[in-house]
Amino acid sequence: MSSVSPIQIPRRLPLLLTNEGVLLPGSTMRTSVDSARNLQLVRSRLLKGTSLQSTILGVIPNTPDPASDAQDLPPLHRIGTAALAVQVVGSNWPKPHYTLLITGLCRFQIVQVLKEKPYPVAEVEQLDRLEEFPNTCKTREELGELSEQFYKYAVQLVEMLDMSVPAVAKLRRLLDSLPREALPDILTSIIRTSNKEKLQILDAVSLEERFKMTIPLLVRQIEGLKLLQKTRKHKQDDDKRVIAIRPIRRITHIPGALEDDDEDEDNDDIVMLERKIRTSSMPEQAHKVCDKEIKRLKKMPQSMPEYALTRNYLELMVELPWNKSTTDRLDIRAARILLDNDHYAMEKLKKRVLEYLAVRQLKNNLKGPILCFVGPPGVGKTSVGRSVAKTLGREFHRIALGGVCDQSDIRGHRRTYVGSMPGRIINGLKTVGVNNPVFLLDEVDKLGKSLQGDPAAALLEVLDPEQNHNFTDHYLNVAFDLSQVLFIATANTTATIPPALLDRMEIIQVPGYTQEEKIEIAHRHLIPKQLEQHGLTPQQIQIPQVTTLDIITRYTREAGVRSLDRKFGAICRAVAVKVAEGQHKEAKLDHSDVAEGEGCREHILEDAKPESIGDTPDLALPPEMPILIDFHALKDILGPPMYEMEVSERLSQPGVAVGLAWTPLGGEIMFVEASRMDGEGQLTLTGQLGDVMKESAHLAISWLRSNAKKYHLTNASGSFDLLDNTDIHLHFPAGAVTKDGPSAGVTIVTCLASLFSGRLVRSDVAMTGEITLRGLVLPVGGIKDKVLAAHRAGLKRVIIPQRNEKDLEEIPGNVRQDLSFVTASCLDEVLNAAFDGGFTVSTRPGLLNSKLHQKTRQGINRRNFHLPKVSG
Ligand code: ADP
Repeated sequence: MSSVSPIQIPRRLPLLLTNEGVLLPGSTMRTSVDSARNLQLVRSRLLKGTSLQSTILGVIPNTPDPASDAQDLPPLHRIGTAALAVQVVGSNWPKPHYTLLITGLCRFQIVQVLKEKPYPVAEVEQLDRLEEFPNTCKTREELGELSEQFYKYAVQLVEMLDMSVPAVAKLRRLLDSLPREALPDILTSIIRTSNKEKLQILDAVSLEERFKMTIPLLVRQIEGLKLLQKTRKHKQDDDKRVIAIRPIRRITHIPGALEDDDEDEDNDDIVMLERKIRTSSMPEQAHKVCDKEIKRLKKMPQSMPEYALTRNYLELMVELPWNKSTTDRLDIRAARILLDNDHYAMEKLKKRVLEYLAVRQLKNNLKGPILCFVGPPGVGKTSVGRSVAKTLGREFHRIALGGVCDQSDIRGHRRTYVGSMPGRIINGLKTVGVNNPVFLLDEVDKLGKSLQGDPAAALLEVLDPEQNHNFTDHYLNVAFDLSQVLFIATANTTATIPPALLDRMEIIQVPGYTQEEKIEIAHRHLIPKQLEQHGLTPQQIQIPQVTTLDIITRYTREAGVRSLDRKFGAICRAVAVKVAEGQHKEAKLDHSDVAEGEGCREHILEDAKPESIGDTPDLALPPEMPILIDFHALKDILGPPMYEMEVSERLSQPGVAVGLAWTPLGGEIMFVEASRMDGEGQLTLTGQLGDVMKESAHLAISWLRSNAKKYHLTNASGSFDLLDNTDIHLHFPAGAVTKDGPSAGVTIVTCLASLFSGRLVRSDVAMTGEITLRGLVLPVGGIKDKVLAAHRAGLKRVIIPQRNEKDLEEIPGNVRQDLSFVTASCLDEVLNAAFDGGFTVSTRPGLLNSKLHQKTRQGINRRNFHLPKVSG
């Protein structure tokens, strides 16, 4: 008898604990590595550098115990198999994970564990020293007999298999060439055995015992095969073939392959998958593709990377909601109530959405333009989209398009790529599980473009009712019908929406909110929602309207209500802590516990009202009294106010004026500053300006130069030629933001007029309007947002172009009440309204100013707006 194990294993082995199966000497097993311990072992023992290190590992079968702490080393099985790693396949995404292919060499037993972390290492004793076997057995003859018997069964088993399969023929040859002592281990791993049986074989250290235990297993397999062959003769049914192939498939991994249970599971999975495909309601074409793919999958070895790819593909195919949909329920009256309940104000938007839904109901199809809500962030665009889904009883899914610049984000990657996946549309459908959801295409204005194709073009296909019943994602490669999906888009501005896309959509503007609207939204919607999220009740916290106003004006500067909402979140968190502390009041608060920095907090709060949050209320406050959020508490929670009105401060020098700008984020006030110095008539402009804005600056200077005499404007040396020996610098602060558009014209003129006259611009006035070379004031856009911005900033007088007067109707009454409007058709009127006492020629002030006075008064009376206080 030849010696079977010439292998000499080291006395110390790193231990790999496997949960998935039992490795026996002479066989090979695939095992996945994802526990922290095993990952460490693989990294430090097998993957030093880039090549595979030939370290011998001690593989210990492990039964995971969910109750035990993953940190602690579980009790170790005493006997294991020393093994070599033949292959390591790994990926880091979505989490670190390796698959090891390990080949068992011989048994060993743990003498003692030397260290546990980061992975266990043990002192071991090698067990299979085969030269010793004759001595450990009772008699040589007995073992000889046993092994002869075993050999016969093994031959019988193998000969029942299909000898034309090369692996089977090889196995037959191996039975003769391998030493008999190696056969029990190898055959145990080939035939159908449970993990428990394998563990018993592993524990059978004595060869005699091992032979005795494996023979019944062999016999069982032989009987099974006999039965199978009998049934196969009767039925030639497809399904049976799948089972019959099994033993042969397993044999193909010889020598030594194991993978038993693993593969069984996988095969079961594939049968399941096949069944799912058969019963799925996917269209004909998709069915064909799936059939083809599953046939391919069956032939593929699992180790092929394509195996996983194909399987994922098929799983997606059966999961997609080809034919599953929700039933629409639409009752326009109920829809109106729901929209009103969920959203305060935004009347125009709600009205248009209801119209849209009503038309849909009558026409009973979705063809027609896609609704696109355009407005600043946080004005409720997404939220209305969600309500639409709710009124229809449909699923809702938001697809963020901001920054998407690759068309495969929309349309998927072809499956030839490693890591290919479907696009966001198909993914969304998989997520919602029905084929008629409401998809909110968020931020269509932020679609990018790159070498990887134009996502807007892909989106067009998705949105086009003529094409989208046949939408083909590159990954799926079969058409999916999108015609039942209701698309709604949102954007901050229409300016950057690709024109072809814009053409498909019906734009509904959603302007920003006034302070009063924000207060209402806050108290009706935001605060109750935040309280609920933080588990608070109105009995525990009270936020009066004045506090809300404080937050709106001093802690936020936005058109929508998003950061307002976040501030309420911060307040609720702080209060939740207080309430929780209050509940444990008996546990007595030890002030030495107060964290560092808290000291100064208490200092600030010394003068706070007794019931306010900051006033160390832990002990003073009875628990049933609500915590009142006043300004002191606000300062305590949110820090000092971020936006204190600084308009008047900044206007304390000549050469500064306040303009109104429109941005995709809503209206804003914008300062324009000018200074002059000795020079050669140069104009410098700073603050990231676009071309149109630069032209406005040149226009403004030209107009002032040509009117210098009329207004008595002179340069530093008293000359009416304003640029003579003089340079002018115009700056638009907030330099990081690009500004463009013609509407700053009037502001630049006013600012320069102030610079050259040395007079201050009124500190409560803001203006907007385009200018011409002849001094006319032309209408501009975004009046509502701009006026709201002026109102937010606490300004009192707004100068707008005469022809924008009609836009004032959109402005809520309360804002109109707080402001006085001056409509101007020429620059004379702008300047007169911008400076205290007017700005006209000083020689005959009375006449001109009283004229202006009259004119303005007429205008105001007729228009019913506030009378500007222009004194003569
Ligand atoms: P957008 O999509 O316009 O950026 P969101 O829909 O995300 O804004 O709105 C932000 C938050 O403000 C949401 O919690 C939303 O419910 C709330 N909100 C905005 N406008 C209103 C409104 N008019 N009434 C009630 N809640 C509103």
